[in-house]
Order: sequence, then C-alpha cells, then structure tokens
Amino acid sequence: MIIKPMIRSNMCFTSHPDGCEKNVKEQIEYVKSKQKIEGTKKALIIGASTGYGLASRIVAAYGCGADTVGVFFERNAEENRTASAGLYNSAAFEKFVSADGSKSFSINGDAFSDEVKEKTINLLKKEIGKVDLVVYSIASPKRTHPKTGETYASALKPIGKKYTTKALNFITGKMSDVSIEPANEEEIEKTVIVMGGEDWTMWIDALLKADLLAKDAVTVAYSYVGPTLTFPIYRDGTIGRAKEDLEKTAFLLSDKMKNINGKAYVSVNKGLVTQASSAIPAVPLYISLLFKVMKEKNLHEDCIHQIYRLYKDFLYNKDGVKTDSEGRIRIDDWEMKPEIQKEVADLWAKATDENIGTISDLDGYRKDFYRLFGFEMDGIDYTKDVDPQAKIKLI
Ligand code: NAD
Repeated sequence: MIIKPMIRSNMCFTSHPDGCEKNVKEQIEYVKSKQKIEGTKKALIIGASTGYGLASRIVAAYGCGADTVGVFFERNAEENRTASAGLYNSAAFEKFVSADGSKSFSINGDAFSDEVKEKTINLLKKEIGKVDLVVYSIASPKRTHPKTGETYASALKPIGKKYTTKALNFITGKMSDVSIEPANEEEIEKTVIVMGGEDWTMWIDALLKADLLAKDAVTVAYSYVGPTLTFPIYRDGTIGRAKEDLEKTAFLLSDKMKNINGKAYVSVNKGLVTQASSAIPAVPLYISLLFKVMKEKNLHEDCIHQIYRLYKDFLYNKDGVKTDSEGRIRIDDWEMKPEIQKEVADLWAKATDENIGTISDLDGYRKDFYRLFGFEMDGIDYTKDVDPQAKIKLI
C-alpha cells in the first residue's frame, strides 16, 4: 500500500509505519545521547503510544533502563486502512527495546475499563512485579464509565460566557474569528468525568489492592495551564475544570499511597503539537507563535526533551522532587517565562492572514503535525509500497 496523508477537519486519518518508526528511533537516539538517570526500574505508562506518554515510556526505558508496560487505545490496520500512529509507534518501540535489552509489554484496549485494568494487573503479576512509576497520560474525548456503563463525552467550551477568539487553521494557513458558546453544567460535569482524576484514582486503587506498587513508588499525571490568552477556552473552561480535579486528585492519591511511602504528582507540561492539542480552538495559533519565540531563544522543546527534563531535573532530582507552591511540577517553566509570554501576546495581537507565515512558526507546527502520523520524516521513501499491518505483539 502506498500511504499518503489524508487530512480532514485538522485530523489525519492515515499513518505511515516507516515514518512512525523513524520518529520513535529519533526520540530514542536523543535519550541515548543524554546522561543516564537514576530513576524508575519498572514503569507502567497509561496512554503510552503517542505524545507525552510515548516520550515517558522512551525515557523510562532508555534514560533509566526500566522495564515498561504500556497501555493505549489504538486502531489496527484493516483492508485499505492504515493502523493509527500510536500502534506503529508502539510496534517500533517494542522492536527497538527488545533488541536493546529492557523488557516491555503492550496492552491495546480501553484503559477506562475494569477489563484492561485487570489484564494489566495479571500481566504485572506474571511478568514484571511491582512498579515504582505509574505515568497517567490519557487524552480522550470520551469515557465509558466502568461501573455504570454510561459513555460520557467531554466538551471543549468556555464557562460562564461566550468566547470569541482569533484562530488559525494550520492546514490552510488561514486566520478566522471563532465563537464558542459556554458550556452548561452537564457538559462541565461530563468533561470532569472524562478527563478528571477519577480514572487515575481507579488505577492506583487497583494497583494498591493487588500490592503492585513498590515502596517509594511515584505516580504522575499531566496537566496544562497555558497563557492568559487561552484561559477562557482552556484553564477557565471545561477542560480546566477537569485539570483542577486531576490536580486535587494528586493529594488524595499521595494519602492513599502513604503506607508504601508513595507520592502522586501532577506535572504541568508545555503546550506542544499532539493529536489532542491540535483539536483545541486557539491552541494551534498560540503554539505556532510560541514555537517561533522559543526557537529564536533556543528554548524550544518537544515531548521527548520535556520528559527527559521531567525525569532528570524534577522527578528524580537528588535533592527531592521540585514543585511549585501548589505542589505541581512545572516543566512549562520556560514556556511561562514572562518575556516569552509577552512576545507571544504582542504577536497574537498583530497576527493576520498576511503576516502569519512570517511572524509565527506555522511551517514548524505543520511539520510537527504531519510527523505525528509518520509523514514528512527525512529519509523515508513515501512512494514505496509498505505493509500497513503493525508488527506488534499485544497482550
Ligand atoms: P495524545 O493524544 O498524543 O496521547 C493520548 C494517549 O492516550 C495515547 O497513547 C492514546 O492511545 C491514549 N488513550 C486515549 N484514550 C484511551 C483509552 N480510553 N484507553 C487507553 N489509552 C487511551 O495526547 P497528549 O497531548 O500527549 O496528552 C497526554 C496528556 O498530557 C493529557 O493529559 C494532556 O492534557 C496532557 N498535556 C498535553 C499538552 C499538549 O500540549 N499536548 C500539554 C500539557 C499537558
């Protein structure tokens, strides 16, 4: 099959196995080129196939030499349809890691379900033993609740009043004004059910009950704060409510993990191009401007650089875990530097169709987006016939 990007409504419906493998290889090479980290030896990564979760798995395995179990929800290839990028990424990770010596196991299924939790627990009991790190990196638009069977959809909406913002269609390069009506109470509640801390809690409860968390184990979930420019749609919106819930959950989990001297953290990460973030209105414009400013100042990072720094300087810092006054790890520290935020806000105010190609890093944004699906990777022959089946052993 010859695989080309198929894009509709800022989503890409095809992925390239060779390109995804190259992307994973580049991330592994980056970590291998860095100093080793005295950190996790056995890690469970929930949401391990793309974005921040994939980077968390790679840094655990290659930065710390850990055995890893990755849980994700990805699509297999079918006749005339490629697998999703996360499946190719995970196949590539498994291929490289087995040659390099760490153990790894991958579970493809709905992490919100009791069934996948049970499968993971049985696997850990049989193959890995207790884990010392649990990363929770799920981004999902919906969740079927394991107790009620009801499926909840999250909403990306402001709260209280309508939000009108500049927006950028990063595929066409066209700017527009977008207005989003405020969420009602039910939409807020449902977004918290999908993206808040309940499922993270269910995972930690299940692992504690099965005695599969090692002494001093750490769990970390990812959050975002971002600029005041996107507050109405992000931090003060429905998704922000879910993130507040996730952040509160960290304290509850630390309490539950007291007997094993464990700790739960939320890490606030940098805004980056991932499948999840490109779907949020105003975010592609903000990130394109942010990349321009951060690249000029040599402060730009991708998921893999962020997570390497998270493990090395924050989670496994020999002086203890570094947090802000609210107990959160802040690897968005460079993004949030006042001088960076000021420059981005100035550029935002003057962004138009005519100047967006020069004042922002629109090309970099687009390239990162294509790379999520294995396209636009150097050294890949995209005219070659490739087998779309992902070669991965799944549990
Ligand atoms: P992503 O879309 O790249 O990855 C999401 C992962 O979740 C994938 O591995 C996917 O398979 C998995 N997943 C989704 N639904 C699942 C399910 N039901 N069962 C099992 N796995 C499932 O997203 P990302 O941007 O890396 O986001 C990960 C976390 O990081 C999120 O909490 C997000 O809010 C946070 N974060 C993202 C950014 C950003 O700019 N991208 C910034 C800060 C924090």
